[in-house]
Amino acid sequence: MQGLMMDYQLTVDRILEHANRFFAHKQVITKQPDGSIHRYTYGDMYRRVKRMAKALVQLGVQPGDRIGTFSWNNYQHLELYYAIPGAGAVCHTLNIRLHPDQLAYIINHAEDKLIFVDGTLLPALERLADQLPTVEHVVVFNAPREVQSKLPGLLHYEDLVAQSDEDFTWRCTDERQASVLCYTSGTTGNPKGVLYDHRALFLHAYGECQANALGLCELDTVLPVVPQFHVMAWGLPFGCPMAGANMVMPGPHLNPAALAQLIEDERVTVAAGVPSIWNGLYQELRSKPRDISCIRALVVGGSAMPRGLIEAYERDLHVNVMHAWGMTEMSPLGTVSIPHTQHQQLSQQEIWDIKALQGYALAGVELRIVNDAGEELPWDGTTMGELQVRGPWITKGYYKVEPAPESFTADGWFRTGDVATITGDGYMCITDRTKDLIKSGGEWISSVALENKLMAHPKVVEAAVIAIPNQQWGERPLAAVVLAPNASANEEELIGYLAESFAKFELPDKIVFVAEVPKTSVGKFDKKVVRQRFAEGQLL
Ligand code: AMP
Repeated sequence: MQGLMMDYQLTVDRILEHANRFFAHKQVITKQPDGSIHRYTYGDMYRRVKRMAKALVQLGVQPGDRIGTFSWNNYQHLELYYAIPGAGAVCHTLNIRLHPDQLAYIINHAEDKLIFVDGTLLPALERLADQLPTVEHVVVFNAPREVQSKLPGLLHYEDLVAQSDEDFTWRCTDERQASVLCYTSGTTGNPKGVLYDHRALFLHAYGECQANALGLCELDTVLPVVPQFHVMAWGLPFGCPMAGANMVMPGPHLNPAALAQLIEDERVTVAAGVPSIWNGLYQELRSKPRDISCIRALVVGGSAMPRGLIEAYERDLHVNVMHAWGMTEMSPLGTVSIPHTQHQQLSQQEIWDIKALQGYALAGVELRIVNDAGEELPWDGTTMGELQVRGPWITKGYYKVEPAPESFTADGWFRTGDVATITGDGYMCITDRTKDLIKSGGEWISSVALENKLMAHPKVVEAAVIAIPNQQWGERPLAAVVLAPNASANEEELIGYLAESFAKFELPDKIVFVAEVPKTSVGKFDKKVVRQRFAEGQLL
């Protein structure tokens, strides 16, 4: 047929081929468990990936087999992102922070055939040694060659690389083949698996590289603090080699001082992580200043970045913050909030307001908000509705869960479970999760808006707002607040402060002071646990 394009499969091996062809000299820098720096190039990585992919096939790995990874962010984990799909199999990233029962559930649900494990995490996996019937081999790296374990069929990563060679043809020929599997953090019930095909990850990498998004390019040096087991470090292991950007992998060294040092030493230009990481880094840099002027974008997502923290970074440290929103089900990136031409006349305060929004969609993602009847709502910046999305890197179902009708609309949109407003010029703002919204006397109260305001108070470092049952109103807000070190404030002072910005009915009935807001395995506020503590009478 005339006018149609050639049949070119969007498979991730082609990203690595591109990096090897054009950016073979660019670097992957890893901070190893012992604190030393491992440095090699995309060219070196390419050759080791080919060897590992061949070794996998020689071990009997078949197309579509699931192969687990249990690791920090490091060069070996990066190699596996290409070697496993390159061998035609599925790279199943396991969250190292999960409870052993949940971990066993996920490995068995996915029926992982092999598991690759970072030696520093071997003891954590060994606790499951007698619960892994499908696992034939465990392959260890960052461990001595003679390491012993009661895990099945222990092999050493470096032996596999050494015994193999580079004469290997990629086994991914169809862009619709599965390449990576991630399970959602599972705030309710068992975690659900999202299976990404090659095409989704390839297009997502393009999306990330868009100048209106992260704008990754050859000049960048990118530090994914977000773990590779949390939605593939937000796809950066595919976006960076595509762009030819250097990568800096922090290994297990995620404390603020270590991160600050790494950013300064390696002249990082883009760093990506959840708000709690950047909160810690900010406190560190305030007490011990370092030169991080190299950063052109501090990318933050996974939960709402408090406006106060955006302002603090930009005002005090002159670091540009880039707020992004996404989900495991979206590979994960959906939106970014970067001010545009129409904002050029705004004051600095108003610019920070824009940056605190979750932002506009990447080209490739469509957004809409709907009411309970499924009717589309206006983009006026105030009307709240359930946020729905569709696009080429958004899942159409969960792994081995069929069907999942509650997550999708009849006309093919994914129901995010987030509640949002969208401004006339397309800037989306998450006001809540559907299950976290507070309904008081028939009126909705946004827990996120209250949290953001509280966290903008100079004496507050963390705040989580939950709904508590109330006979008269149905539900009322309660805020659990963590004060800054050596700060003192009482309930009255904080309520008075909130009253400057919120209607009376929106003000929390109660503010309780806690030492820490409980967090999920990926560092988000765990409101399920806050609710549980309230129910157990611990927050009275
Ligand atoms: P996960 O799949 O674990 O990454 O969680 C996805 C959910 O995290 C989204 O549905 C949102 O509720 C929340 N989330 C992610 N990014 C943001 C953000 N920038 N602001 C507010 N919530 C966010």
